[in-house]
Amino acid sequence: LFITIEGGEGSGKTTMIGRLSAYMQNRSMPYLITREPGGIDIAEKIRSIILDPEHTAMDARTEALLYAAARRQHLVEKVEPALEQGVTVLCDRFVDSSLVYQGYARELGIEEVWSINAFAINQRMPDLTLLLDIEPRAGMSRILMNAEREVNRLDMESLAFHEKVREGYLQLAERFKDRIRLIDASRPPEQVEREMIRHLDAFLKD
Ligand code: C5P
Ligand code: MG
Repeated sequence: LFITIEGGEGSGKTTMIGRLSAYMQNRSMPYLITREPGGIDIAEKIRSIILDPEHTAMDARTEALLYAAARRQHLVEKVEPALEQGVTVLCDRFVDSSLVYQGYARELGIEEVWSINAFAINQRMPDLTLLLDIEPRAGMSRILMNAEREVNRLDMESLAFHEKVREGYLQLAERFKDRIRLIDASRPPEQVEREMIRHLDAFLKD
């Protein structure tokens, strides 16, 4: 089972993934938590190139290709071997992030970005995607309150950019209703967690 968590800045992806681990443990489901971009050495190195605050000259297509490269390596080196052993993989971001950030918000085009990602993922799509939706202003203020979070190049993007990210995600949720569950992440963590678990239970039942 391949489950991805998506959402804009400050939507609580990392926190919620942590909470899902308790769910997995309670059901004795073997699981693996990982993240994109990163999760393994090669991909973490690509991540640091992409997110380096000094790389202001990075071209949007270069960025999209780097994300796709990191995704590919992470998939073959970590995600697929785990899935093959029957391990449930919980991944913080996956291809939807690229469709939304590079395709929609950076305006490279969802279809264009899909095409390089189709090459990278070679048919491997998540079975279920939990999309944490929050108004960018609220998400950004959560980030400012979290002193431990690493600063990255995307933090310098305007609120308008993050509004586009949200809009892009909502469009994907419409388009891929079978796979994507839209969750209101502006609520307290306990409520968000409860709803995620409800979706997981329902998914695991059929
Ligand atoms: O998930 P996390 O917040 O750690 O992501 C790191 C940064 O990478 C974020 O600022 C996010 O906006 C950005 N990102 C991106 N395009 C992707 C994936 C992540 O711009 N495809
Ligand atoms: Mg995070």
